[in-house]
Amino acid sequence: MLTVDQAQEAILAACPGLNPVRLPLLDAYGHALAEEVVADAPLPPFDNSAMDGYAVLAADTSGASSEHGVSLRVLGDLPAGQAPRFTVTPGTAVRIMTGAPLPPGADAVVMVEDTRTEGETVLIFDEASAGQHIRPAGDDVAPGQTVLTAGRALDAAALAMLAAAGRSQVMVTRRPRIAVLTTGDEVVDTDGPLAPGQIRNSNRYGLYGQVRDAGCELSHLAHVGDDPEAVRAALRAAADSGDAVITTGGVSVGDYDFMKQVLQDMGQMDFWRVAVKPGKPLAFGSISGKPLFGLPGNPVSAMLTFELFVRPALRKMAGCSRIHRPCATGVLKSDVRHYPGRREFQRARIEWEEGQLVARPLSGQGSHQLFGLVASNGLIVIPEESEGVAAGETVQVIILNEGE
Ligand code: AMP
Ligand code: MG
Repeated sequence: MLTVDQAQEAILAACPGLNPVRLPLLDAYGHALAEEVVADAPLPPFDNSAMDGYAVLAADTSGASSEHGVSLRVLGDLPAGQAPRFTVTPGTAVRIMTGAPLPPGADAVVMVEDTRTEGETVLIFDEASAGQHIRPAGDDVAPGQTVLTAGRALDAAALAMLAAAGRSQVMVTRRPRIAVLTTGDEVVDTDGPLAPGQIRNSNRYGLYGQVRDAGCELSHLAHVGDDPEAVRAALRAAADSGDAVITTGGVSVGDYDFMKQVLQDMGQMDFWRVAVKPGKPLAFGSISGKPLFGLPGNPVSAMLTFELFVRPALRKMAGCSRIHRPCATGVLKSDVRHYPGRREFQRARIEWEEGQLVARPLSGQGSHQLFGLVASNGLIVIPEESEGVAAGETVQVIILNEGE
């Protein structure tokens, strides 16, 4: 049986990044950048005013104060978007708007709140220092500077940066297309009443959301009963449709758990057990040369093993350099029991309380108990060799989402 780290490592090694494509900026959102982006011009492109006010010579304002105004002759207005038409000379000022280019001669801006207009002149009530309220060209980004590196997931800030740098298209990694196949005779979709013994197909929806959250699209979403021939055909269709296949159910040791056998026959099975709780039966291999993840059927096991083993792999395929969730340490708020053996991940509420991060294990840690999962915003990691952790001790936590 592999450890969590060994399994993650083996999976990542078997999941190469996909090809790059060139996309318009808006379509590139959520993709990973597949090129280094270097600024070819300074940002901002020119010296400009950070305030609405007056462009002046700082030396002219010497001795100005709230009680004593210095009078300067106003040459005219300079709105944003216009080239300067005036040169500021001793004894003069230009009325300037935020973002307008600094007129030649001026070396400071006095904000409008520190001034009063009087006909053709302005009274300045602030002794300005040279450079005041000026945003110099290149003080954000210098020409030749790398602004984004390959592997950066294009979030809002990255899109804004690309736009500012004048990029209308970028090279990104193609979005992985993922097939999801759920299994089980007892599993039915959400509509209609349940016959005795049936349960709803929650994995279909949970995994759909997880695949989308990981920055991938669904190529295929299907369900198949516990029949080896039907499983075979369904797996073939799933493998043909996308870049990777995820199945749930049928990988443990029950009489109807055909998935493992079918996988072995049709493709290649690298391993099928990992020392993790929840989720010990977890198959990984390939079919038609595409990675295949055989997740356990229990809804919490399926979603947690996706989180731990599939998500990093999909993020790697998507070209992201950051593939793991952020981790932190937190103070455990109640005792956690653990028998040495498997690394355990407990659903928890992680909160900032009284100056420290605290982790509260939720009740309902069973691998079928979705309520504990939906109430959680993170995971507490209990190491393999642990014999339990007492309240007040420090634990590693994985931050999954913002929580409610
Ligand atoms: P299996 O791994 O097929 O033995 O399934 C383990 C448990 O998970 C059983 O209780 C199944 O009924 C349940 N299960 C399997 N697939 C799903 C699914 N798609 N949605 C919800 N529960 C499932
Ligand atoms: Mg089953």
